[in-house]
Amino acid sequence: MNPPNDRHLTIIGAGLAGAVLATLLARRGWDVEVYEKRDDPRKRDLERGRSINLALAERGRNALRQAGADEAVMAQAVMMRGRMVHFADGRTDLQRYGRDDSEVIWSVHRGELNRILLDIAERAGARLHFDLGLQSVDFDNRIAHYGGRDGQSRAIPFRTLIGADGAGSSLRQAMAAETDLRERSDFLDHSYKELEIPPSPGGDFLIEPNALHIWPRGRYMCIALPNDEQTFTVTLFLPNAADPEAGVPGFDTIRTGADARALFDREFPDASALIPRLEQDFDGNPTGVLGTLYLDRWHLDGRAVLVGDAAHAMVPFHGQGMNCAFEDCVALAEHLDRTADRATAFAAFQAERLPNARAIQHMALENYLEMRDRVDDDDYLIQRALERLLAERHPDRFVPRYAMVTFRHIPYAVALERGNIQRELLVELTRGHQRLDTLDWDSVDAAVRARLASLPGDDRPA
Ligand code: FAD
Repeated sequence: MNPPNDRHLTIIGAGLAGAVLATLLARRGWDVEVYEKRDDPRKRDLERGRSINLALAERGRNALRQAGADEAVMAQAVMMRGRMVHFADGRTDLQRYGRDDSEVIWSVHRGELNRILLDIAERAGARLHFDLGLQSVDFDNRIAHYGGRDGQSRAIPFRTLIGADGAGSSLRQAMAAETDLRERSDFLDHSYKELEIPPSPGGDFLIEPNALHIWPRGRYMCIALPNDEQTFTVTLFLPNAADPEAGVPGFDTIRTGADARALFDREFPDASALIPRLEQDFDGNPTGVLGTLYLDRWHLDGRAVLVGDAAHAMVPFHGQGMNCAFEDCVALAEHLDRTADRATAFAAFQAERLPNARAIQHMALENYLEMRDRVDDDDYLIQRALERLLAERHPDRFVPRYAMVTFRHIPYAVALERGNIQRELLVELTRGHQRLDTLDWDSVDAAVRARLASLPGDDRPA
């Protein structure tokens, strides 16, 4: 077997990041081969299967535009203007994400998105091989071993392996046998279960479609995202262990579909009425774990590099894991363009992206507390109201952290740093106030000018 040419790159994993990266690289003239352990999802039955959806935001869309995939993806996306909070007393309130419909996020069907991206990767010239999972790597001789359902192992030479093989990455494991990546994982003491709200008998959405619904209940919560087939994917987040004294349920006490129905009837009654197959969904769907993966090294000189969840899996509470993975793909393609030396390109990629991955991992963890515990809290609500006003009064200086993360391309690390300063300001300025009309606006404006420089421009053009 001939060793691959010097424009050859091997991507492990044809999931979300693998498919986008393959497209970006193939469009730049790289000779791209992708190995995916599952079957080709485009060949599965025409039914779309269980609906699992993801929130797509500007960073992800920016990458999709560069891959020529934005139009096809957006054709099946559902707009989400804000969080529709379902309070315990049955009231609902739409908390907008941005100023208007130019600042929204989009719910996309994971399976459909993957299929669209695979078509586009193939059209761009990437060669995709399914049912071939990476098993082991001989880095000295640059031979990767793959296996499929037939039980045969295949040894295939490579120049460089790019790991887009997700949180349980096999490539990461192989790299770790060569060098210490300083890997650690922090698992949350919460897990999740997916359920589904079907369409109405007339085929419509049963609740407001253009929102991400949240039922916050302190130490646990439920969310629902719309699908373009008029369903909602509901995700129940619960602690692994109940705290009976605090009245907090856990997956150790909510074990069966019947337990889950009783919990919903008690704590989420409006949602319960919308989920006829709650018992079956709860019993039939797996319970997902949630964790953050930290590595100090993402590459093995010029021979291997990791992107997306393989490098930095995060908890899903900012809806940024895929968006961040797509941003990685753009950055890696650009670094590979800049120098012929792959080790140099990967080191530069890691230097750019690792601090930003750390920042969004941190913000995703913080957002968990915010979503389940703060969206119905009075201090939080007055701070959010002031945040919106300051964003209008000082659009160059005060950009809400959520907006910096979701609607801009400024590095996540900058969003985190500025967000911390802004949060301190909001707490200080609203201390002792229940209403915004009691604030002294001259001193508020002076404080914003003194503490916040003009926001640096986006690092990448839209
Ligand atoms: P994956 O999507 O996991 O793809 C990895 C691919 O590699 C798969 O196709 C897999 O089959 C393949 N593979 C694995 N091992 C091998 C092997 N040995 N050989 C070959 N192929 C292999 N992100 C958002 O941006 N917005 C959201 O709203 C959002 N919601 C989420 C909700 C939940 C409950 C969870 C768990 C995550 C959510 N995320 C969200 C995060 C998002 O799912 C991930 O960040 C994203 O899927 C990462 O893409 P990836 O390509 O790196 O990994």
